[in-house]
Amino acid sequence: MTRLDDDHFHDECGLFGIFGHPEAARLTYLGLYALQHRGQESAGIVCSDGTGLRLEKGLGLVADFFDDAKLESLTGDRAMGHVRYSTAGPSVALNAQPIVIDCHRGPIALGHNGNLVNADLLRQELESAGSIFQSTSDTEVILHLYARSHREKLEDAIAASLTKVRGAFSLLFMTKDALVAARDPWGFRPLVIGQLEGATIVCSETCALDLIDADYVREVEPGEMVVIDRQGLRSFRPFPPEQPRQCIFEHVYFARPDSQIFGRNVLVSRLALGRQLAHEAPADADIVVPVPDSGIGAALGYSQESGLPYQWGLIRNHYVGRTFIEPRQSIRSFGVKVKLNPVRSILQGKRVVLIDDSIVRGTTMRKIVRMVREAGAREVHVRISSPPTTGPCYYGIDTPLKSELIAANEPVDEIRRHIEADSLAYLSHEGLLAAVGDPDGARHCTACFSGRYPVPVSTSEDQLKLFAEARRG
Ligand code: SF4
Repeated sequence: MTRLDDDHFHDECGLFGIFGHPEAARLTYLGLYALQHRGQESAGIVCSDGTGLRLEKGLGLVADFFDDAKLESLTGDRAMGHVRYSTAGPSVALNAQPIVIDCHRGPIALGHNGNLVNADLLRQELESAGSIFQSTSDTEVILHLYARSHREKLEDAIAASLTKVRGAFSLLFMTKDALVAARDPWGFRPLVIGQLEGATIVCSETCALDLIDADYVREVEPGEMVVIDRQGLRSFRPFPPEQPRQCIFEHVYFARPDSQIFGRNVLVSRLALGRQLAHEAPADADIVVPVPDSGIGAALGYSQESGLPYQWGLIRNHYVGRTFIEPRQSIRSFGVKVKLNPVRSILQGKRVVLIDDSIVRGTTMRKIVRMVREAGAREVHVRISSPPTTGPCYYGIDTPLKSELIAANEPVDEIRRHIEADSLAYLSHEGLLAAVGDPDGARHCTACFSGRYPVPVSTSEDQLKLFAEARRG
């Protein structure tokens, strides 16, 4: 099996929970289906009819893993589910979520989108105090902390465990009586509340609400914890307030363009990113071509602002997974060709502005530039709708180490030479913030571009390698 390197940062998880609907598990299945872009390697749903928890989880896409029989067995009016992207390795199945434990308080399930920066330390402490972990995931730390809490009420025990962890978390807990959602004080990852026929929903993105015709109510605010049970919805503020630092990359790439993220439509942001890019980095060219799908929104915006026609010069095969079997004799650029095919009659003789959201290692972009040129383009001018990615993410996004990030190690002109483009330009940091409606940079995390990490992390490369290996199991 060959792994397809699409050279992007990847979101690691999507969440969907519902309380008070007779079709809870099936609606959760549909919600996860809409959130599949946030994680493709494992899926799970836990449900309850008020007597206990029932879990089904495993590897694969939501539609592949769940069949009618599995969904039929998930009875009850409350359910929550999780999709997960993960790095390769034997830990993939073990780390599928929701994670369910049974402790002195009864069974509880947890799904997590984010990453805890002090999980390793807490895990060491818990293990030396006798805790036995079932996975390598940082999420399990939260459940061990919860199980050790002496607080009587559910919300107090959850809050007590969450005040010990640091980093990014959008979380869903489920017991047989309640659904609890919590978002870290910085609000790194999205989490929204919706309603359907008297049932309350909490999920990662509004596109999941749209699919099931639910109404969007509001976000779970940064630093907020909500408890949903037979009494209704109660809101708590268990953490000291922080300056919000919502992930700007959700707008650039991760979230679906039809979602409202942090109170703003993602496609509107991507169009604005493209317009700003055209303003900052015009090109003497004939057509604008996106790298599909990641560059589409920004390419439309670039076309609108520059007046250059938008053209569908690269066609993406939407049915490829993350791996494929190569023929015995390898063909040059085969990996990219599985996913993208150039349209010669569009590209022939043209000066092309090629738009994508980011360049991570640079290997894939070089193959795409070559492909466009081999299809007859006269010039290829690459424009990127975000600043150079110079640092990894420690807040729930799968990223390579800093040493593997081309922009962390090479100046822009060297990257241009590496990807074999006629010209290369990135969006400025100021342009990025302006395009998402936050010109002062008061609400967003931009650490992978700026190096300003809102929650301190160790930047020792050795420690990070150990961390990455541990996650790979
Ligand atoms: S470091 Fe980058 S990807 Fe990670 S939360 Fe911040 S902006 Fe998002």
